Amino acid sequence: MLDKHHEEYREKVRAFSVETIEPLAVTLDLEQRFPSEHIKPMTEFGLMSMLIPEQYGGRPTDTTTYAIAVEELSRVCGSTGITIAAHNSLGTWPVYKFGSEEQKKKYLPRAAQGELMAFGLTEPDAGSDAGGTRTMARREGDHWIMNGSKCWITSATKAFATIASSRTSEDPADKRITCFILEKEWKGYAVGKKENKLGLRGSDTAFLHFDDLKVPVENQLGEVGQGFKQMLMTLDGGRISIGAMAIGLGQGAFDCALKYAADRVQFGEPVANNQAIQHKLADMATELNAARLLCYEAAMMKDAGKPFGHMSAMAKLYASEVGTRCAATAIGILGGIGYYTGPYPAERIWRDVKLCEIGEGTSEIQRLVIARELLKSLKPEAKK
Ligand SMILES: Cc1cc2nc3c(=O)[nH]c(=O)nc-3n(C[C@H](O)[C@H](O)[C@H](O)COP(=O)(O)OP(=O)(O)OC[C@H]3O[C@@H](n4cnc5c(N)ncnc54)[C@H](O)[C@@H]3O)c2cc1C
Repeated sequence: MLDKHHEEYREKVRAFSVETIEPLAVTLDLEQRFPSEHIKPMTEFGLMSMLIPEQYGGRPTDTTTYAIAVEELSRVCGSTGITIAAHNSLGTWPVYKFGSEEQKKKYLPRAAQGELMAFGLTEPDAGSDAGGTRTMARREGDHWIMNGSKCWITSATKAFATIASSRTSEDPADKRITCFILEKEWKGYAVGKKENKLGLRGSDTAFLHFDDLKVPVENQLGEVGQGFKQMLMTLDGGRISIGAMAIGLGQGAFDCALKYAADRVQFGEPVANNQAIQHKLADMATELNAARLLCYEAAMMKDAGKPFGHMSAMAKLYASEVGTRCAATAIGILGGIGYYTGPYPAERIWRDVKLCEIGEGTSEIQRLVIARELLKSLKPEAKK
């Protein structure tokens, strides 16, 4: 399914990930430390600008190449994988897709140079139901005045700019949402402390609070009322990268389990000689390959300009559940040592990969997205 250039790219990004990212993965998790030292080498490798056109300083790739990059980074470090996925898919892509020429010139070169961007959709009272956004912006002359909060925003304390959704009418009947590009340095923009999480503990997740934040009209993204559609389109693409992240994490678990099973001797022979262990390994490898094919198919449909939202939902749904299963199975294959922190990555992967079933829409929401598409194909009377 992949071209030669995809395979060559995988070799390069895998070598980069193993040499540059993997040595710090355990420390980042244990110390809950953001991998700041990875940003410069990742920028030089082109990982911060994969969805940014060249005229704005980017090094654009096709979506499959981008998925391979997220997969290989996540194979060695989930925290780095989510940082790259959120920056490219959720931070930079909406500016490229929906931004004015001035906005692209102002924000994309900085992002391509390694300054992180974030995406603020989720709120304490609007998670899966993101249309229930409570953040409110009211127009005052050539500014919007914004009040509200966003929660669990990836890269929140580091990002220089965030794409955030807001209602723009105080009329309760008018639920239209508009997106804005917000800058961290503006008065009224406050960032909470980095959250303590089950996994992805190196990644930077925090609240954002907007208190009479003065947003220049030129920072409105597209037209008033288009924000919800923009956010959903952004998530359609982002879900490919969350699927890729889950595949990378699952592959990391598989690689660890395969080697351990071959090395670990019990009853006088490697545990891999037991058919029960072999079947587990076979299932992991089969499911990972199936997840990969779904993910690449969604990526190729996106690049071909075909409707792909249901495919990216399928890819994320399946890959995240496969990744979670692989991590749990790997711990089982390792036995007691699999439960320990440090010597083998299986337990870290198990904690990291769970997020892939939640972020950018839970598995339940992916099933809703897929089912909605399936039902579209029915005749109106059959939908009742
Ligand atoms: C580490 C991390 C990073 C994140 N990064 C970002 C980010 O960068 N930007 C951002 O905007 N958000 C981010 N999020 C938020 C994430 O997208 C939300 O947590 C997610 O969309 C789910 O929303 P919720 O947590 O409010 O769950 P809820 O919506 O409260 O859901 C609770 C449960 O109810 C289920 N449920 C809800 N509605 C339905 C329904 N209609 N049918 C069936 N089941 C339903 C859900 O599936 C879930 O099981 C992040 C979250 C985490 C944990």
